[in-house]
Amino acid sequence: MPEPRTNGCALVTGASRGIGAAIARAIAQDGWAVGVNFRSDATAADAVVQSIEADGGRAVALQGDVTDPTSPDRLFELLESTYGCPVLVLINNAGVSADDLTPSMSDEAWSVVIDTDLTAAFRFTRRALKPMMRARSGRIVNVSSVVGLRANPGQANYAAAKAGLIAFTRTAAVEVARRGITINAVAPGWIDTDMTADVSQDLLAQVPARRAGTPDEVAACVRFLASDQAGYVTGAVLSVDGGLAA
Ligand code: NAD
Repeated sequence: MPEPRTNGCALVTGASRGIGAAIARAIAQDGWAVGVNFRSDATAADAVVQSIEADGGRAVALQGDVTDPTSPDRLFELLESTYGCPVLVLINNAGVSADDLTPSMSDEAWSVVIDTDLTAAFRFTRRALKPMMRARSGRIVNVSSVVGLRANPGQANYAAAKAGLIAFTRTAAVEVARRGITINAVAPGWIDTDMTADVSQDLLAQVPARRAGTPDEVAACVRFLASDQAGYVTGAVLSVDGGLAA
């Protein structure tokens, strides 16, 4: 484990399981103290914190629904007071899907996905940019999806949210580039998590790599984009999809 960073800390939304948990563990290995946000599964979030601490890192579990407009201020204040430093790394990972074909999609299925996967990322980014602009330093990584880049029938809401997240990433990135802040997205393909547990294995035939990806493979890319070495990478979308979008 490298020297702990004392100038700033990191927040990962939806980090109690899946890709978010892998990201929290990965960036903790770069010395960041990590806020492990979770909505309801405190036991799982505590397990992520304990695994980071067991590796010599620092982490704290932070309960909060990302769609609640009061969550960004509350979570940032909690995290910043815990470690006595500003949030300089934000990973907008929390996401949901609610699949249906467009003719039968309900307003609720549309709204929950847009609110969670797009609007929450905007609100957390807006909140994060305040301390980052003061520090003239910051890294934001948004977890989009291959579905934001190419069609997947039954996911119009998810596609709109994830494509919107990419457009948001690019635009916000150029707004703050001169201030030492980078904003990038990753676009995972089929990753083996709870979200894809019900997807038919037959679809793997469409993936050029002929296998699902792992949360750790996404986390490695996010870790790079959040690192000091990635200072000249901004407004980019990194596909992590075994060639699905190629
Ligand atoms: P997951 O369902 O295991 O994890 C999603 C996490 O987000 C969960 O911990 C969940 O509790 C949290 N979350 C959902 N709504 C929330 C809310 N309102 N407030 C706080 N937390 C909330 O799935 P995953 O595959 O790990 O997904 C992580 C991200 O990766 C999501 O943004 C997802 O869209 C994206 N993604 C996943 C895949 C895949 O194949 N698994 C592919 C592309 C993109």
